Amino acid sequence: MVRTGNLGLVKQINKYTILNIVRDNKFISRASIAKVASLNKATVSSLVDELISEDYIIESGIGASTGGRRPLMLKFNHKAGSLIGVELGVNYVYTILTDFDANILWEEKHTFDPKTHQDKVINQIITMIKKAMVNAPKTTYGVSGIGIGVPGIVNEQGTIIFAPNLHWDNVSIIPKLKEHFPDVQITVDNEAKLAALGEKWFGAGKEYNNLVYVSAGVGIGAGIIINGQLYSGVEGLAGEIGHMTIEVNGLMCSCGNIGCWEMYASEKAIKKMLQEANNKNGSTLPTTVEDVSVEQLVDMVWNNDEQIKQIFTDVGKYLGVGLINIINTYNPEAIIIGNSIGLAKDWVLKPAKELMKERVLSKTSHYPNISIANLGKKSCVVGATSSILNEILNPLEIK
Ligand SMILES: [Zn+2]
Repeated sequence: MVRTGNLGLVKQINKYTILNIVRDNKFISRASIAKVASLNKATVSSLVDELISEDYIIESGIGASTGGRRPLMLKFNHKAGSLIGVELGVNYVYTILTDFDANILWEEKHTFDPKTHQDKVINQIITMIKKAMVNAPKTTYGVSGIGIGVPGIVNEQGTIIFAPNLHWDNVSIIPKLKEHFPDVQITVDNEAKLAALGEKWFGAGKEYNNLVYVSAGVGIGAGIIINGQLYSGVEGLAGEIGHMTIEVNGLMCSCGNIGCWEMYASEKAIKKMLQEANNKNGSTLPTTVEDVSVEQLVDMVWNNDEQIKQIFTDVGKYLGVGLINIINTYNPEAIIIGNSIGLAKDWVLKPAKELMKERVLSKTSHYPNISIANLGKKSCVVGATSSILNEILNPLEIK
């Protein structure tokens, strides 16, 4: 498609460029905006006035003089509206209400039996959103949107195509929510993709425009950010790197493939290794492997449990194998490891990094910064609100 533009479009581009500059700079004067944006002062002044009248920007004190009159400083009004983020897990719904700066104003988490019918789960989501709305403060824009993260593949229309761990197939959740919230913008996306966005906007990825977020929990998913924007692929499948083959004759995966990465570097892998170690004599490991959490295992490592340490080292090495493939495919500035495996921090990161240094393709090329997610268990819900904030701040994005 050829995209053309008129003067109105140019004005809109300039306006949202200014809004993003103000948000990025915390406090900035009109003259400084003109310099950063390479626009003339009259254009900046008129667009700033428009943004002030819309309450997206507020005047905030007097800045230092650079020769003449001391300038009026501007800042992004993070209290102009509220955002709702929902994370649908395999057995829980976690909902938050935030301002435009990811400050949490209200939150609640409900667990449910994984066998619960999808209609009941969707009703639970609706109930929690209503509760969040009741708790929303009075602001210019009220609740500006609802973002929802789900553990499955989601297409461009927000339909959940396939969520294997929820056993959901082809579920259109947006029309059901629209019956209750007709005037609010609603987006649905994969949990790892939204978590990537959350870390990019408010977490460990703030400084980077090209990053891969690896959600290593029960399985492995990823969110890929290229030039500051989430990459979804043609059908929303991009990021399903947990199912790349790393062992040709390896373990059978629930996806039907053999030797998938997530069979070796996820909670599934840890539990399998635990079971094997348990079957040997003299094990110090928990007897009921199914019930043990990664948090408990991390505690055991801190108490110098050698067997668990070995398991984390092995998982870390396999994590490294997959990360090398990511580096060779995307050449990212940063890789962020989130979800439960991230809780093991250096116990998995150290062996992963050692293996990567040995095997990475070019010793001279850019080596990405590899870190643990900053937002912890909030990466996805904060990312869900960020997806709405992105639409507010970058409505002209050419998709
Ligand atoms: Zn698989």
